[in-house]
Parts: sequence; structure tokens; C-alpha cells
Amino acid sequence: MVHPLVSNRPYSSPSPNNIFIPDPPNTSPPLSAVPVIPRKRVYQIYPSRNRFFCSGRLLTGGDSPWAFIASFALVIAISAAWFSSTCVWWWHNQSPAVAAVGAYMCLLTVSCMLATAFRDPGILPRNLDPDPPLPATSPSDGGVRVPYPRDLKVRTDTVRVKYCQTCKTYRPPRSSHCRLCDNCVDNCDHHCQWVNNCIGRRNYTFFCCFLLSAVLTLCLVICTSAIHLYLLTQMDHIDFRDGLNRGAGSAVAFSLSILVVWPVTALLAYHTRLLLLNITTIEQIRNQAHKTLIPGTPPPNPFTYGSWRSNLAEVLCRPAGVSWLNAHAVVTEDRRRVNPGLDEAGWDHDDLGQVRPTAV
Ligand SMILES: [Zn+2]
Ligand SMILES: [Zn+2]
Repeated sequence: MVHPLVSNRPYSSPSPNNIFIPDPPNTSPPLSAVPVIPRKRVYQIYPSRNRFFCSGRLLTGGDSPWAFIASFALVIAISAAWFSSTCVWWWHNQSPAVAAVGAYMCLLTVSCMLATAFRDPGILPRNLDPDPPLPATSPSDGGVRVPYPRDLKVRTDTVRVKYCQTCKTYRPPRSSHCRLCDNCVDNCDHHCQWVNNCIGRRNYTFFCCFLLSAVLTLCLVICTSAIHLYLLTQMDHIDFRDGLNRGAGSAVAFSLSILVVWPVTALLAYHTRLLLLNITTIEQIRNQAHKTLIPGTPPPNPFTYGSWRSNLAEVLCRPAGVSWLNAHAVVTEDRRRVNPGLDEAGWDHDDLGQVRPTAV
């Protein structure tokens, strides 16, 4: 049914000029985003060192993946040893609840690790400022001119943002260019080789969740496997060596967990402090360098919310934001003309967008 206010009559232009086209051309897809031929996806032409998987839906960083493969293999080894021995024993002999909680924690750790490793960390779009303001040339600079920085007001302080020559854009505050991935990353904390990805705005919560769940899981594995080995020797009246043989999976899970729990706990403690202060790892290192070079108190942190509770809530509960990269999307080009009516009048556009008569 047609709405009474909507007419079925084609719209007629009130303009007497036949060259003027009042309605935009009804094209699908729109002329502003016409897929290129041959059809390509964004990740196939994206000039960075990231590795893409599943047609651009997943990505990792640009450095060597072996550290990530080793750490993931360690997580899987501890989980498999615990599942095959300790978990089964607790399920049948003591408390199925402990086995269920342990299984949940192992799965949470693995899923948070994979989400951190394969998610877009917040890669900033390129070419937003292709023509930055440059200082005047001087004979001493050798022709290399660095674009002027910009000063932004953040609350009561001023934050200086610099131009990224690679990404051709002014980096927003708290963003950094990762040399390993060759990208600017929003709210960049650091590049973590153990997950083979940058840690930025879009995966920092997953990273913190991974550290917390890993420490809790390791503590659970250590306690349950130690109790398993102890009760084996007590209930069956066997010596410790026989207990190790019968609970070999628990012994492996216990030994590996004891080795791993210390560095992961130290990393969790470090990031807990950063969370409470609302600073990133890069900012903390920069402040440390500032303290070493310039005596006295470092400049105040303009991004803090004033209390540790607010900082914690802001960093962990803020929205991840959209992926500007959208690597799975189809590559398009803008085919809109400045004034398409001039084409019909025998005029043409040259490469610079200027209009000239068509040679007939
Ligand atoms: Zn950059
Ligand atoms: Zn990186």
C-alpha cells in the first residue's frame, strides 16, 4: 500500500536546464563505493606486516610467531596433562565441582589468549592527513622536513601528538606506531611477542582477562594436582615414587605450572598497577626515561580519572570500538564525478579533476 503522502509519479525537475540532474543516479552499489575489478579484499592489499587468516577476519602481528606458538603449546600441554589425570581423578573420587571449575578456567584462559592474539588491536586508518603542514625548507635540513606536531587539550593539560610518516596521519593521543606490525595502534600498550600481536584498545581487556585467568588456573592446577598426588599415596598406602607413576599427568601439570606461575603473576601485578594508574606500558617506560634524564617529578598523567576505581572501570569496561581496518571488506573505489552533467555537454575531466572540452 502506498502512503497517501508518497506519490507514484516520477519526480520531474523544476529546472529548465536539461543538463542538471536533480536526482542522484540510482546505482547499486553506490558510485562512491564500487568494487574494484578483479575483486579483492582489504587484507590482500593492506600495506602492513600483519598476517591475515580466514579472509581477513583474523590477524596477528608481523614478528616471528614462534614465541606465541611455544606459549600456546605450553598452555595446551598443562591443560591436557591436568585434564587427562587430575581432572578425571577429582571427578570420580572427590568433587566433580572442582573438575568442572578447572575445565571452565582452562577454556577461559585458552579463549582469552586466542582472542588477544587474533583480534584487531585497534589499527588506525591510513592516509587521513596526506598533506600535513610542513616547516619552511632550510639549507641545513637536507630536504627532510618533519611535519609540525599538534597540541591537543586533554582536561587541564596539553598533549602533543605527532605525525606518522608511514601511516600518513596524526596519531591520536596514547597511540603509537608498532615497528613490528608497521601500523599505528589506538591506545597502544605494547607489542607482546607471547601472543604475537599488539595490545591496544580492542584487545587490552582480553589480555588482562587472559593474565588473570591464567594465574587463577595455574594456582588451581598446582593445588589440585598436589592434593591428587598426596591423597594417592595416603589412600593406597604407596610410596611417593609409585604415586608419581600412577599420577604422572598430575606430576607434569604441577611441574610446568610451578615454572610458569611466577613470570605470569609478575606480569599480572605489573599490569594491575598500570590499570589502577590508567597508564600504558609505553607511557610508563617513557616516564621512567624522563625520570632518568630529567631530575624531578615527571609530568602528571592527563588521562587519569582521579581514583583507582574509576581508572579500573574505565579501562576494563570501555567499549572496544569498531575495527577501522575491516580487513574482510571488499576493496572499493570512488567513481563519483564532480559534475556528471558536463559529460553530456561534451566536456571531460582530466586526471587532476579539471574540466576541459572533449576532443571530437
Ligand atoms: Zn603509523
Ligand atoms: Zn605490533
